[in-house]
Amino acid sequence: MPLLSDPSPEPKGSSHDFWLVLLRGLIGRCPHCGKGRLLRNYLKPVDHCSVCAQAYGHIRADDGPAWLTIVLVGHILAPILLYVIPNSHWPDWVSMVVWPSFAFILALLILPRAKGLFIGLIWRTGSVGSEK
Ligand SMILES: [Zn+2]
Repeated sequence: MPLLSDPSPEPKGSSHDFWLVLLRGLIGRCPHCGKGRLLRNYLKPVDHCSVCAQAYGHIRADDGPAWLTIVLVGHILAPILLYVIPNSHWPDWVSMVVWPSFAFILALLILPRAKGLFIGLIWRTGSVGSEK
């Protein structure tokens, strides 16, 4: 329980500003320099930043980005559906096409950002669950 007893533990990883690192990861930029790309091929982290050579290939975000994506898509979509479906007069087939498509597109947009966020968080805290 050391994390719960100390609200601001000294980071084992970087001394960069916590929120800046998360923001850089969120926009898909290198958490260290903010200039190089963090992801290639949609979700695959780069081995090294092309600008500052910081290594990211060993960082494993595992299921974190998928979990965050599901939580966000659900929390965005549920209120919309709860309001729109009772108040709309769309044919059922329209709803069966529109809402899953919207959820799919939303998930595709959120997932790489969630992955960058988690990689930035893992890099910043130094809690690399890596294969290194
Ligand atoms: Zn960099």
